[in-house]
Amino acid sequence: MVSEITAPTELKKVDPVFGQLSFNDHEQIVFCQDKDTGLKAIIGIHNTVLGPALGGTRMWNYANEWEALNDVLRLSRGMTYKSAITGLNLGGGKAVIIGDAKTQKTPELMRRFGEFVDSLGGKYITAEDVGMETADMDTVRGVTPYVTGISEEKGGAGNPSPITAYGVFMGMKAAVKYQFGDDTLEGKKVLVQGVGHVGETLVDHLYNEGAQLYISDINEAKLEELSKKYKATVVDGNEVFNQALDVYAPCALGATINDATIHEINAKVIAGAANNQLADEKVHGAILKERGIAYAPDFLINAGGIINVYAELEGYGKKEIIKKTENIFNTTLDIFNHADTHNCTTHEAALSIAQNRIDNRKLALKK
Ligand code: NAD
Repeated sequence: MVSEITAPTELKKVDPVFGQLSFNDHEQIVFCQDKDTGLKAIIGIHNTVLGPALGGTRMWNYANEWEALNDVLRLSRGMTYKSAITGLNLGGGKAVIIGDAKTQKTPELMRRFGEFVDSLGGKYITAEDVGMETADMDTVRGVTPYVTGISEEKGGAGNPSPITAYGVFMGMKAAVKYQFGDDTLEGKKVLVQGVGHVGETLVDHLYNEGAQLYISDINEAKLEELSKKYKATVVDGNEVFNQALDVYAPCALGATINDATIHEINAKVIAGAANNQLADEKVHGAILKERGIAYAPDFLINAGGIINVYAELEGYGKKEIIKKTENIFNTTLDIFNHADTHNCTTHEAALSIAQNRIDNRKLALKK
């Protein structure tokens, strides 16, 4: 007997898969399961018009499978626009592995995941994201060529996080220039929420430029170490939105700009690495605009990592990686000006420029 699969009641009103709220013209979703290794993963391929769908793999202890599906749908779509606006010939994809990266990640599980990636024949190319290390990508490389972000010893461009942090720093400087008329961060009060791979390097850049630093994380040991190293003030998670700041830099997980926080945020600029910072792109983007808060779109300023892994596919070196990443400063300023000219939010401005690039390519392919 086949047992009936039931969706949570609030989702019964819509079609269970294509009717999902986060489903946005995705091309293909692949569900991967392997009982022996305990692997449960979802690969989301949003769009391949500009090239193969490239995006990292996130391993996270999701509360349930619906949350994991929602995450992969949102993240893979974000990758499409990130690569498009950065001028890369890549489509958008992402993968999530359901589980605790600290206790459930094994080489066998990573290899099995790599085999699923391989079965897509290059339509999806993976890389690292939250819960993944360069060493995990090296393990995946053992079973498939469709992986980037592998170590320099194995011919890769290495850990993308420092480049991501540099790009975020460039985007932040552009947003600060737009808001304050000068791009310096010296003396600016900046709060970095999440001091992991990207956040820590961002703190380093900010410290070197003389910013007044505030840091928040759930990892107490890290907070203690970095507060000493960078003379940063530690802020409790509940106090993040009570601070009067020049810049709020979300560098942990997404959706921190939501109904509960949007009116509390007391910063003049938002610029950070986290993907999908706006819980609702339209609603929360519009409120930030109304409140005069300069928001640097996440998918634009956190593109350093994808520029870094793209180098592995295109074969360009560190100099070119840095040059392309520094250009995030110019693109971000252009987006602020475009948003002013067209009276739209910065998020909408960045999306429409990215979408134009995809539409033009689609037209060219039809000819
Ligand atoms: P990471 O896992 O190394 O760091 C995340 C940090 O956030 C950790 O220190 C964690 O303890 C902290 N954190 C988790 N929940 C928190 C909470 N509720 N409050 C405060 N801190 C919390 O991840 P990362 O590689 O630094 O990536 C950070 C963000 O940037 C993610 O959203 C990721 O998708 C995005 N991003 C990363 C890259 C990259 O190259 N690594 C590229 C693009 C986007």
